[in-house]
Amino acid sequence: MALSQSKLESYILCPFKYYCDYVLKLRESARADFSYSSVGVFIHYVMENFMRRSMSEGKFDPELTEEQAIALADTIIEEYAVRLIPSDDERKNRMTFLLERLRRIALVLIYNIIEEFHHSLFRPSFFELNMDGSDPAISAATFGTGDGNSIKLRGIVDRVDLFRRGNDIYVRVVDYKTGNKVYSPEDIAEGMGLQLLLYLFVLCNTQNKKFRRTVGCPEDGNIYPAGAMYLSANLPVITVDEHISPDEIRRRAAESLKRSGPLLDDEQVLRAMNDKLDPNFLGTAKSSRSTDNKLKPEEFDQLCSDIEKTLGSVRNTMLSGEASAKPRQKKGFSPCDYCDYRAVCRSAKPSKKHK
Ligand code: SF4
Repeated sequence: MALSQSKLESYILCPFKYYCDYVLKLRESARADFSYSSVGVFIHYVMENFMRRSMSEGKFDPELTEEQAIALADTIIEEYAVRLIPSDDERKNRMTFLLERLRRIALVLIYNIIEEFHHSLFRPSFFELNMDGSDPAISAATFGTGDGNSIKLRGIVDRVDLFRRGNDIYVRVVDYKTGNKVYSPEDIAEGMGLQLLLYLFVLCNTQNKKFRRTVGCPEDGNIYPAGAMYLSANLPVITVDEHISPDEIRRRAAESLKRSGPLLDDEQVLRAMNDKLDPNFLGTAKSSRSTDNKLKPEEFDQLCSDIEKTLGSVRNTMLSGEASAKPRQKKGFSPCDYCDYRAVCRSAKPSKKHK
């Protein structure tokens, strides 16, 4: 069985909505255009190209000046805009305001990542890594479900960072998000937000010799998980008085960037991520019990096995034909809030603010 994370999550959120969207295909097709919903695509494009072009001798270029970073970002943004709307006039009329706002978001991310890599021994090594098995060096993201079956999860890892310690390689996967995405162990237990961790485990557990050679892991070395990190940009409108300096504006904007996700509880590896152990760069977790996001190696192993069991259980439910309207609600959120089938669905349970 092959699935994307969005299909998997759609099913978990409401089997009936999944059935309407993906089996009956009742969804309206998206109009080709550039709107605020395309912000994520834009950010991914800019970040991928910026990181690729900023690499020098296998690592993020520490000599990159602010002026060079801005010039490079502007070149990439212009390329993207031209590809989307080739006509100069039309592009200027329709996109100037939106692009300027997106540019500011991209620059805040870029400045922040430059600062991150000034204090890190991790090296960004793969960008937009396709996990579908089409690259012989990268194993497909296929998982046993504990009952002799397997499930293949299609998708892309935004960035993979590597750190070498002795003969061993430590892997951190990074996902750029626009919005408030945070890592939540409770969500993981329910099957939500599995993708990034699953890809981390695939990369670490692979026996693919080409991949091991590519990442520089010798035969007697191991590949270990160092972390799975969401980098979320949800920039608020910052109200400032005229005396605030550009540096202060940037500092406040950077505060709205959030990192979250589980990291290996190993001080040397954490210091390789950030030599000051700065929590802004080492992230957090959102849980009813704790915000601590550090996991011992055995806890990572346990997480991997728990996720496989969860996947197996969701797979079996899907194959059983279960398609009832059972929205998975959380405090202040219901999938019914924005569901296109709400008018015809007798089981809609919107959250309070959408009633
Ligand atoms: S309105 Fe709610 S219960 Fe009905 S299909 Fe949509 S998400 Fe499911």
